[in-house]
Amino acid sequence: MDYRKKFLVKPGGKVKLDKVDPDFTDCFESKEDALELLEKNTAKLAELQYKLYSENKQSLLIVLQAMDAGGKDGTIKHVMGPMNPQSCRVHSYKQPSPEELDHDFLWRIHRFAPRNGEVVIYNRSHYEDVLVVRVHNLVSREIWSRRYEFINDFEKMLSFHKVKIVKFFLHISRDEQLKRFRKRLERPDKQWKISECDYKERQYWHDYIEAFEDAMNKCSTNHAPWYVIPANHKWFRNLAVSQILIDTMEDMNMKLPEPEVDIEHIRLLAIAEEEKARNSGKH
Ligand code: ATP
Ligand code: MG
Repeated sequence: MDYRKKFLVKPGGKVKLDKVDPDFTDCFESKEDALELLEKNTAKLAELQYKLYSENKQSLLIVLQAMDAGGKDGTIKHVMGPMNPQSCRVHSYKQPSPEELDHDFLWRIHRFAPRNGEVVIYNRSHYEDVLVVRVHNLVSREIWSRRYEFINDFEKMLSFHKVKIVKFFLHISRDEQLKRFRKRLERPDKQWKISECDYKERQYWHDYIEAFEDAMNKCSTNHAPWYVIPANHKWFRNLAVSQILIDTMEDMNMKLPEPEVDIEHIRLLAIAEEEKARNSGKH
């Protein structure tokens, strides 16, 4: 199945999240069922990242958004895991600092955009400025409602500069969120991740859904598409995200650079040098 087609929020479309089943797993019944493909994808991603890095002419920006406990961290571990840390970065956006708040909302975003050859993941992003900010009225409607247009312009500018943008909304159900919070509460190694706010924020679930739908409908474009990924099953989420990344990177048509030196000439030098080493070894 073409997951890009299946999960794309069509530009100018009208995505309704209650119409997307967060439990969807395509034709796979279990993680074991999908394991072979997952492993193949992991290897393929590493290969494509190597090509992107070697070519050094374009870059990839992955935007991850989700409700709390939606699986951003797990997705990053899976997607970045196989990649060479030399040319990939994650940037996590928390509450803005006073300095950041003294600037326009894209100031802190733009400075961490990828350079040629790099893969960058935004763990949360400029979209928080039309999500949490809108839900909690942190700025007036007049201000946040202009931001969709600014986001589209910003992303268009990045893509003009050869930044390929892919945006994922990891879609979990409200019940699944509660289960994941419970796990965090019960497991000593996860307790640091849970807070009172996580539970309190659940009362705004529908406001968040509305804000997510609006953001994706207004800002899914040909050059920076949004995908809604069914994410109740972590293994399927990883499979879908990796498949979409592979398809996207293959379309980037990256080419390994031609060597700038005369390989034949160097080969002759190598033979001579190896011969010398052999001879000196004999004495
Ligand atoms: P996890 O999902 O694993 O809990 P996290 O990304 O939620 O990790 P936290 O430190 O728990 O990390 O939360 C970061 C908080 O920062 C979120 O509540 C998010 O809404 C908030 N935040 C991010 N960007 C902005 C912004 N521009 N304005 C206001 N709040 C923001
Ligand atoms: Mg959190």
